[in-house]
Amino acid sequence: MPNVGILVVGNEILDGLVLDTNSHWLINQLKALRMPVIERITVRDEVSEIAKAVRRLLEDGCDIIFTTGGLGPTHDDKTLRGVAEAFGLPLELNDEALAIVERQYRRLHELGFVREAELTEARRKMAILPKGARPLDNRIGGAPAVLLEVGDSWIICLPGVPRELKWIFENEVVPLLKRRMSGAFAERVIRIQRGDESTIAPILEEVMREVPGVYIKSMVRPHGEGIIRLWVSAWGETQSEVERLVEEASRRLMERLGDS
Ligand code: ATP
Repeated sequence: MPNVGILVVGNEILDGLVLDTNSHWLINQLKALRMPVIERITVRDEVSEIAKAVRRLLEDGCDIIFTTGGLGPTHDDKTLRGVAEAFGLPLELNDEALAIVERQYRRLHELGFVREAELTEARRKMAILPKGARPLDNRIGGAPAVLLEVGDSWIICLPGVPRELKWIFENEVVPLLKRRMSGAFAERVIRIQRGDESTIAPILEEVMREVPGVYIKSMVRPHGEGIIRLWVSAWGETQSEVERLVEEASRRLMERLGDS
């Protein structure tokens, strides 16, 4: 099972102007694909900070790194420069990426979203990729996403605009990820009536010890009227095995927590 890391790029996130919903959405998509996100880092629009974070995610064992944001045409969009720097790669114009950028601006012009259809210097910038990378299609906005393979690791750079990120993930990235998927995953959410999360912590640990391979997480809603949700999940070799583990852990949890 590949480990995933997410690198969120953008001053607007760290300045509190935009809430990072992209990584939250990605984490849930990846969970459904049985790919655990082991680390997430947020950095400012600085080439050296982006490069440092990519290296750290790799050192920490991430096999696939998603970046979000910073692919656009403006001077503060620096993600690809940061990724190139992380691996000491030069940047170069990619013809396939250029064709995507050209096609998208023609289309956006026809739809009346942009005034000019022509390829400007700023737009051409979005087709300059780290050497060896390839573009992933973007049929919503102007900037192609990017896949860079370094050994067994993948760096997948997605735009920040949520609608673009989602389209690219669903249409371009999922087929790639399916090539790397192995094993089985099962999950279940149980709701229990309990005001105090701290009283259940020892029981969750007990059940995780008793049913190895299962992971249990409690989630309290901010104004949850005393309802605690327990997310029970398991990764393993076969579907029947992981389903059995989730069933077994859920049964033990209900026995110990259900009536209180
Ligand atoms: P584009 O190529 O379309 O300009 P980009 O990759 O350059 O995209 P950014 O300029 O980083 O993206 O961000 C564009 C907008 O997308 C931001 O102003 C913000 O509204 C939204 N955005 C960026 N990052 C996130 C995020 N992590 N979660 C939610 N929204 C985000």
